[in-house]
Formats: sequence, structure tokens, C-alpha cells
Amino acid sequence: MGNLQGKSIIITGAAMGLGYAASLECVKQGAQILMVDYNEEALKQAKAGIEQAHKGAKIVTTLANVAEEKEVKQYVELAVKEFSRVDGLYNNAGIEGRQAPITTYDIDVFKKVIDINLLGVYYGLRYVLPVMQQQQYGRIVNVASVGGIRGVMHQMPYVASKHAVAGMTKNVALEYAQYNINANAIAPGAILTPMVAEAFKQVNPKDPKAAETEYSRANPTKRLGLPEEVASVVAFLLSDGCSYVNGQILAIDGGQSNSY
Ligand code: NAD
Repeated sequence: MGNLQGKSIIITGAAMGLGYAASLECVKQGAQILMVDYNEEALKQAKAGIEQAHKGAKIVTTLANVAEEKEVKQYVELAVKEFSRVDGLYNNAGIEGRQAPITTYDIDVFKKVIDINLLGVYYGLRYVLPVMQQQQYGRIVNVASVGGIRGVMHQMPYVASKHAVAGMTKNVALEYAQYNINANAIAPGAILTPMVAEAFKQVNPKDPKAAETEYSRANPTKRLGLPEEVASVVAFLLSDGCSYVNGQILAIDGGQSNSY
């Protein structure tokens, strides 16, 4: 038994990293989940991993690219068909793009980052909000980043998209609180997931571990975060207990964003 007993939750980008850790935590706390991802093999493995740890859990998976509006509409319709309602949306799928200076940033990569990180999150809101409004209940957690509250060297489209996620979260908070729906965003710092491992490879292709050690030095905790340390916060934000926190952008970064 947990705080999400009986809840129906959609999790995007569920096959790996933060989405996978949150999927595991939601099921552990009693939720039935729809895991959405565009990586078929990873999604299959993720589902099997959770089912092994939590026998009898209701886990549905679907392939979708969150940057495609039609596919987002379909995953929301599938959740309603399977669960009859959608209590929570963890709007998590996102990519970093490449790291490059502003004036030489590849435009196609720039657009792809915006399509997935900004429009992908928006489409999720667009199709889930009417369902939540009708049932007069909903909890939404959008995934921003410390790049949604600060600049990050050589990651302009990522930073732009994550500031947009923070902004969209505040608008949902204003427009939908009257329907018993709240929306918050998390702003993780560097959390050890495949995405971050890839970023360290870009910073130091010969010795990514050295890049990781160097990066960790600036954090008050002297270490990176773990996906489970994000998942436990997300589970709270998706729960009934989170009823009067709305439109917040919550840093999960060991305190690093407080540093001057
Ligand atoms: P990850 O690359 O480890 O996992 C992302 C998952 O999302 C993968 O399973 C991938 O297949 C899926 N995905 C990506 N684009 C998709 C799309 N268009 N449609 C469907 N699925 C898609 O990444 P992560 O580190 O777990 O990041 C998850 C989210 O957290 C992202 O939005 C990221 O920007 C954000 N974030 C991560 C960190 C971090 O340190 N890991 C920090 C701040 C923010």
C-alpha cells in the first residue's frame, strides 16, 4: 500500500532514466500505469523489470513519439480505455540535443529539441487536461530542469525548451486549479541517467568519468543525484497529499542552484 493506491498514471519517456524510476515508484506505491516511449526494445525490458519486482501490477505500454500530436492523442485515449480515468500525468520525455555554441548550433537539432521538449509536453497537456477536467481531479508533473531556471553553457535550445516547460506549468496552474487539477514542474540537476552519461561523453569523449567527477565537485553534496531520488518526489507530487502546491518549479539538485 502506498500513497498512489488505485491511481491511474501516464508516464512518458518511461523506458529509461527518470521515467523508468518513476514508473517503478508509482507501481510500488499502488498505481496502475501507462508507460509511453518511442524505444520499443527498452520499453519492453522496462515493463518486464517492473512486473518482475511487482507481480500482478497493471502496467500498459504503448509506443509513441511525444513530438507527434496524433500519437499523444492516441496514448491518452488508450489510458482512458484501459483505466477509465487519468489521475496523473508525468510529462517527462525529453532530449538534451547536442552541445554547441549559440551561433553554430545545428538548426535541425534545435527544432527537434523544441518539438520534443516543448511541444511534446504541450500535447500531453492538451489531451489530458480535458479528461482531468471532466473527472474534476488531476495531478500533473512536467519535467523542466535546472536549465529551466538557469542558463547552461552550449545548450540554448534545451534551456529555451525547459524555461517554456516552467512557463506552461504556471499557466496550467492558473487556468485549471478551479477544476481540482494542479500542475508542478521538477527541475532536476545532474541525475545519473543514460542522458547525462551521454552528456559527459560529449564534454570529455576520452574520459567521461573525469567530466562527471569534475561536475560533481561544484555540487554541495559532491555527487550526482540518483533517479530514485527524483522518483520519490514525483510520486508525492502525483499524490492526493499534494493538494495545495500548484505551479511550482521544484529544483531537485542537492541545493546546487542556490549557489552564486
Ligand atoms: P534518458 O535519455 O535517460 O531517458 C529518456 C527516455 O525518454 C528514453 O526512454 C527515451 O526513449 C524517451 N524519449 C525521448 N524522447 C522521446 C519522444 N520524443 N517520445 C517518446 N519517448 C521519448 O533521459 P532522462 O535523463 O531520464 O531525462 C528524462 C527527462 O528529465 C527529460 O525531459 C530531461 O530533459 C529531464 N532532465 C533530466 C536530467 C538528468 O540529469 N538526467 C536533468 C534535468 C532534466
